[in-house]
Amino acid sequence: MSLEPVGVKRFGRILRIPTPTPFGVGDINSYVILPESGSDQLVLIDTGVGTEEAWQALQAGLNEFGYGIEDITLLLLTHAHTDHMGQASRIRETSGCEIWGHENVSSTIASFLPPPERIDVERAVLQRYGFSAEMYDKAYDYRAYIADIFKPCELDRELKDNDIVAINGFDLKVIHTPGHCPEEVVFWQPESQQMFSGDHLLPDVTPVCLLDFPEMPEAERIHTLSQYYRSADKVLPYDARYIYPSHGDVFQDHRQLIMGYKLSTERRLLKIAKILERGGELTPLEVGQQLFPKVWEEQLYAVISEVMGHLDMLLDGGFVRTRELGGIVHYTLLAIPGPGAILQTDEVSKTGGNRR
Ligand SMILES: [Zn+2]
Repeated sequence: MSLEPVGVKRFGRILRIPTPTPFGVGDINSYVILPESGSDQLVLIDTGVGTEEAWQALQAGLNEFGYGIEDITLLLLTHAHTDHMGQASRIRETSGCEIWGHENVSSTIASFLPPPERIDVERAVLQRYGFSAEMYDKAYDYRAYIADIFKPCELDRELKDNDIVAINGFDLKVIHTPGHCPEEVVFWQPESQQMFSGDHLLPDVTPVCLLDFPEMPEAERIHTLSQYYRSADKVLPYDARYIYPSHGDVFQDHRQLIMGYKLSTERRLLKIAKILERGGELTPLEVGQQLFPKVWEEQLYAVISEVMGHLDMLLDGGFVRTRELGGIVHYTLLAIPGPGAILQTDEVSKTGGNRR
């Protein structure tokens, strides 16, 4: 479902420039921090995909305010997904800007442009969850065109949690918020209490927490949905007045948004528990087929990511157990999780504080 286009708009020193993507989510918002008078520091947050159409849209948005891509001095990345980093190398070639992003960027680049050993791991892991070889190929058929629209490059600086990005009169604090992907960061401007939330907080869609693959098939996998909520709890205390997301319009109450995410995750956990209660011992793929009967075949990677995120939570909470049968992992329900048993759905309103 595409979101309503939000348009180029200026908010004080912040300029929002949406650019088109070939993805279901629609446009991605790049943000520009305009220079203080007398300064030539022009900061861009996220690039759009590497297509001519996106390039022209970014250039046109900057031109409206008297700037061009060649004037960018620093490119900051919230994360390395195609729509955020797709035209990074062309922007650097044109402007000579530096590119800064979280140190985990390389693992997401490897997931788009995978080395052969990573493909072996993915096949082995997904086979354990019930995938056939054909399903694996279908889940990743998008990689055939990714190379055309994704032009990543080396970072000039690797950002870490709590780093400060020095911008004249507009310093940004880096908050590492893994979950949607391992390198996701949110940028926080303390004086004006504004937040650039990337894909971590989105006003109209729930961020997908993509399955993370370990280096070896049998190694521990990161439980990305649980990790996502630890990140959400980390940004919860910030007193944000305005939040600028990568998709959709600027919004205000991120605590209410996170509460909504938690309630919908809780509903899905319950739905999966009920599927297991009815179905007995099921593979992750079978759970996905029942959870998303209409779309599972078309969106295999998103569906298995969603299912595993929730099964991980149920397993960590002691609500299911697993058994290996013929090389495929099967899940059995032990108990139905009650409200608030896994996520702290009653705590959001009480959290607050004055994080500046
Ligand atoms: Zn993303």
